[in-house]
Amino acid sequence: MNIPILNLKPEVDELWEDLNQAIQGVLRSTRFIMGPNGAAFEAGSAEYLGVKHSIAVNSGTDALLIGLRAAGITTGDEVITSPFTFYATAEAISQIGATPVFVDIRRETYNIDVRRIEQAITPKTKAIIPVHLFGQGAEMDDILALAKQYKLKVIEDAAQAFGGEYYGKKLGAIGDVGCFSFYPSKNLGAYGDGGLITTNGDEIAALARMLRNHGSQRSYYNEMLGYNSRLDELQAAILRVKLPRIEAWNEGRRKAAYVYNELLADISGLIIPHEDPAVKHVYHQYTIRILHGKRDQVQRHLEQQGIGTMIYYPVPLHRQPLYARNAAELPVAEESAAEVLSLPIGPTITRTIQETVVAELRKALG
Ligand SMILES: *Cc1c(COP(=O)(O)O)cnc(C)c1O
Repeated sequence: MNIPILNLKPEVDELWEDLNQAIQGVLRSTRFIMGPNGAAFEAGSAEYLGVKHSIAVNSGTDALLIGLRAAGITTGDEVITSPFTFYATAEAISQIGATPVFVDIRRETYNIDVRRIEQAITPKTKAIIPVHLFGQGAEMDDILALAKQYKLKVIEDAAQAFGGEYYGKKLGAIGDVGCFSFYPSKNLGAYGDGGLITTNGDEIAALARMLRNHGSQRSYYNEMLGYNSRLDELQAAILRVKLPRIEAWNEGRRKAAYVYNELLADISGLIIPHEDPAVKHVYHQYTIRILHGKRDQVQRHLEQQGIGTMIYYPVPLHRQPLYARNAAELPVAEESAAEVLSLPIGPTITRTIQETVVAELRKALG
């Protein structure tokens, strides 16, 4: 048996002709950086997400880094975020000389616990980065209300949530800045690195455009310290082929998640994902909790059967070496790190494959 956690082959097969045309078009044009595909992808993604500006960059990490700087966050500032996310969320904060302040998560959604944010705010706090983990939106209404009260910027880490919604609004289009990743395994993925910054703010957009291109608007007139972080034309052309499919693919993921919910419902010793009624969860990951200390043994059993699973994330960020000194206890994040297991999912996964996964899971739990 070989059931990988993510299988990109059906997608590549389905899009083979379109991808080839798109890639050959770039080759024939000999324009590889900052050309028509990048511009068209920016326009298309801005329209789909319902934002005024879309700025394509080199990665999700750079989207966060540049997004933070464009929003005015700088050295010495504090930025509140979740400890239960990919390292890049905090890394970007640290890279600009600011300090991440970790606030524990909600057990049900793995997203930042809004009830605990206020007590973490200090005079140095300048921003909140909610992470829409696994494709499910954080509680944006409460976060925006706090941000307004304390004059904080909200930078959404929507790296796992392209097309996800919160009360009908697209994630990444709600705060001051939205950040997306097109790492190949993401629910909208390129075939290399890529990322996107979204905003309705004209000044933020202008600054982000300069920062991604060495701090310049006009070649060789460099107005500030910037980065080399542009989305290349090949990736943009590939993303243009994929963007029109994202809605259907996200629906496929949601359907697959509900199939898992149904198949797993009667197994004791595990908890299935909770879906907040305010959100459209796009199930970038389908993540369950295995109770009673049995997670690792279940994962081992599945692996022996050729079924790929992942632990997102084994070490919460406040326990990583860079942040571990004097770290507060964040018990929900720590408990989650010990119990979560992400199962194979994708837009085209079949019920038969899911039944196989669940049958083996049932065996592993005895
Ligand atoms: C993937 C990811 C990132 C980083 O994106 P890259 O494109 O890999 O740089 C940031 N935050 C979260 C939550 C992610 O999942």
